[in-house]
Amino acid sequence: MRDVFDAVVVGSGPNGLTAAATLAVAGRRVLVLEAAETIGGGARTDEAFGTGIHRDVCSAVHPTGFVSPAFADLDLTGHGLRWCMPDVSIAHVADGDVIAVRREKHSLAEEFGVDATRWERLVAPSTQPAALADDILAMPAIPRRTLDMARFSPAALAPVDVLAKAFRTDRAAAAFAAIAAHAIRPLSTLGSSAAGLLLGMLTETGWPVAEGGSQAIVDALAAVVVGHGGRIETGVEVTERAQLPADADLFFDTSPAVVQRVIGDALPRRYARALRRFDYGPGVCKVDFLLSEPIPWAHRPDVMAATATFHLADDLAHIRTTEADVAAGRVPRRPWVLGGEPTRVDPTRAPAGTHLAWAYCHVPAGCDVDMSAAVIAAIERRAPGFSDIVDGTIVTTAADFAVHNSNDIAGDINCGAASLRQLLVRPILSPTPQFTGLPGVYLCSSATAPGGGVHGMSGRRAAVHALHVGR
Ligand SMILES: Cc1cc2nc3c(=O)[nH]c(=O)nc-3n(C[C@H](O)[C@H](O)[C@H](O)COP(=O)(O)OP(=O)(O)OC[C@H]3O[C@@H](n4cnc5c(N)ncnc54)[C@H](O)[C@@H]3O)c2cc1C
Repeated sequence: MRDVFDAVVVGSGPNGLTAAATLAVAGRRVLVLEAAETIGGGARTDEAFGTGIHRDVCSAVHPTGFVSPAFADLDLTGHGLRWCMPDVSIAHVADGDVIAVRREKHSLAEEFGVDATRWERLVAPSTQPAALADDILAMPAIPRRTLDMARFSPAALAPVDVLAKAFRTDRAAAAFAAIAAHAIRPLSTLGSSAAGLLLGMLTETGWPVAEGGSQAIVDALAAVVVGHGGRIETGVEVTERAQLPADADLFFDTSPAVVQRVIGDALPRRYARALRRFDYGPGVCKVDFLLSEPIPWAHRPDVMAATATFHLADDLAHIRTTEADVAAGRVPRRPWVLGGEPTRVDPTRAPAGTHLAWAYCHVPAGCDVDMSAAVIAAIERRAPGFSDIVDGTIVTTAADFAVHNSNDIAGDINCGAASLRQLLVRPILSPTPQFTGLPGVYLCSSATAPGGGVHGMSGRRAAVHALHVGR
């Protein structure tokens, strides 16, 4: 006879496992069903380059994970997670110019010159960035740091093109725009600054990697689930209601499409309409590199050795053109590129003498174009000789990401566009937009507020709601 469960979580990404862990800790009998053969969704690490070489398949750097109240409450560091924290959160690399965005604010004058004060006022205004991040990740709930939020919110709604005018130099404007462009939005659109302000502020708390790979985050979550009596089954794709027990609460760490397919007509009309209207964003093409040496950066190699994240962009116009092309469905000819060298800060990922790097660029939704030539050219221009140290590459196009994880619709890495509407209404306007309105049924993936990133907040909010209402 099949065991009895109080809750079934469909999908084992960071949000699904956070929901499962939160419920299990509260004493609920939890089952997690995952379609893939391994757990973790967008936080998986594999050994595709060889045994003992840990490659992050998707997410790599964790500014939001590090400050996540969901992860803190579940004591992930007590369950084996260790953060590797670089001194430099982001190295912004133009031609012949590197800006080190460090954790310490006192470096701002040296790095930003005449724009140091403007950077501090706009990007690092809070004296307690982690506490403000809590409020932002809990949106649209009522914030605790009301003054900070009152300053943050109007700026977050502005287009990057407007906020960039606050800077006197193009280099500072471009450094801000690159952080904001993690949201993959045209710089002229309302709301395109939001990610830049959140992620920029978190350059102070740090942009760490998880020791051993991002998988360590989901493994720690799974340890909490199993440690509290939960069960996780992999290789089980949920496609119909009959696969799920009739009387358990259901948590979908999936795309809205799966909820529509499985729950279908039972969804209340308001939520069903919201899911039909839900928009997906563009995609990325990622290139992973196995290297015989660290990347030989031409400028400020000391800075490049002290970071896990680099942004490669000529200037503000370069980022603007790339994002405008992508939004218009054009494959950018010479995109700006973001990437990292995790082995710089986490030597446990590969044997001595072996190094890892990854880099990706934004592409239109569903794009199956291999962008590795453009990505390699962007690195080679700033690190002559790079191609000679490459021992292996793995290219994952946007179309490939969609196959790898059904949440990445057409390669959208955040399972939903970060448009102005979906910053506010994701997928409905509610303090708990995860609750579908059908008793006991939740959508808890990054298709719900606060959106993309490995922080588990959507899963936590769904679980907290379910525990609060009881059944
Ligand atoms: C290339 C790339 C780079 C990224 N970089 C970063 C980064 O550096 N930092 C960061 O914070 N975030 C990053 N992200 C985003 C981050 O990975 C996601 O926002 C996050 O993983 C979302 O978590 P989730 O739990 O909502 O969904 P996911 O992680 O997508 O997990 C969903 C899980 O549900 C499973 N599933 C779906 N449908 C079904 C079904 N019907 N039955 C059973 N199982 C199902 C899937 O197989 C998957 O395992 C990146 C993503 C990608 C793809």
